[in-house]
Amino acid sequence: MGSQSIVEQFRVLEAPNYIAQGNEEAVFAAAFRSNIPMILKGPTGCGKTRFVEHMAHTLDLPLIMVSCHEDLTAADLVGRYLFKDNQTVWQDGPLTLTVRYGGICYLDEIVEARKDTVVIIHSLSDYRRMLYIDKTGEVVHAHPDFMMVLSYNPGYQSIVKDLKQSTKQRFASLIFTHPSIPIETQIIKTETGLPEAESRTLAEMGAKIRELKGFGLDEGASSRLLVYAGMLMREGLSPVDACTYAIGQTLTDEVEVMSAIADIVALYFGDLMEADGESGGPQMANVKSQMADGE
Ligand code: ADP
Repeated sequence: MGSQSIVEQFRVLEAPNYIAQGNEEAVFAAAFRSNIPMILKGPTGCGKTRFVEHMAHTLDLPLIMVSCHEDLTAADLVGRYLFKDNQTVWQDGPLTLTVRYGGICYLDEIVEARKDTVVIIHSLSDYRRMLYIDKTGEVVHAHPDFMMVLSYNPGYQSIVKDLKQSTKQRFASLIFTHPSIPIETQIIKTETGLPEAESRTLAEMGAKIRELKGFGLDEGASSRLLVYAGMLMREGLSPVDACTYAIGQTLTDEVEVMSAIADIVALYFGDLMEADGESGGPQMANVKSQMADGE
C-alpha cells in the first residue's frame, strides 16, 4: 500500500458529535487557512480530541493522532527503515505522512515527549514548514493542507515538563475549560441519549464535584466521566451506582474524598427524586442507605 493511501484511511468519515463552547471552530479554521499551528490546552476529558476530530471532518482533512510519552523517539514520528522482502525500505512515520500528503498531525500530551522529539517540530511550526529527514537526506516541504496540533494539560505537568517558550511561541492557542452547565447538559444529552432533566442534574453535580479540586482532588470530574455516568444510567444502573462507579471510584483512592463525592451525588439525585414525588422510592432508599453506610 502506497503511503498516500495510508493517509486516506485517516479521514474522519462520520461527523463527530461536537457541542461548541465558544468561537473555537472559527479560530481553528482561520488558523488552518493561515498555516498557523495550534496548541489546545485544558484538563483531560474536556473535549480537545473530539474538537480536533470535528474540525478534521469539517475541513475534510485526514487526522493522525499520536499519544506522546517519554520513550517516543523522533523516528516514531518521522519514520524508519524496515527490512521487507529482502530489501530495506523507508517507511514514513505519522508526522511525515501528514507533512507529505496533507492532514492534521495531533500530538496528544506533547509535554510527555522527550526534548529531542519536540525539537523536530520546530522547523515545521514556523514559516519554513519543512521537515528534514536525516536518515534519508530528504527535505519534505509541507503540503498546503498540513497542520500541526498539540495538546497538553497545564494543570498537572511539572515546570520541568512545561513546553519551552521557543516551542510555545510558534503556535496559536485555544484554552479548553470544563464547559458551562447548559453546554455540559447538551454534551451529556447528545452523547448518552438521556433526557434533558437527568443530563442537567449530572452537569450540575459535575460542577459541584469540581469544587473539590484542591481539596483532595487533583482534577475535577471531566465531561468524559459525566458521560460515562450517563451511559451507565441509560443502561439501567441507579444514578447513585452510575456516579459511584464512573466518577467517585475513578477520581480518587482516598476514602474521605470518595465519601465527599458520594454526598454530592446523593444530594443531587436525592433532590431529583423528591422533586419527582418519589422521595420514598427504591432509588432514594438506595441513596439513604449508602449515606448511612458512610459511602
Ligand atoms: P480530551 O481530549 O480533552 O481528553 P475528549 O475529547 O476525549 O477529551 O472528550 C472526552 C469525552 O467527553 C468525549 O468522548 C465526549 O463523550 C465528551 N465530550 C467532551 N466535550 C465534548 C463536546 N464539546 N461535545 C461532545 N462531546 C464532548
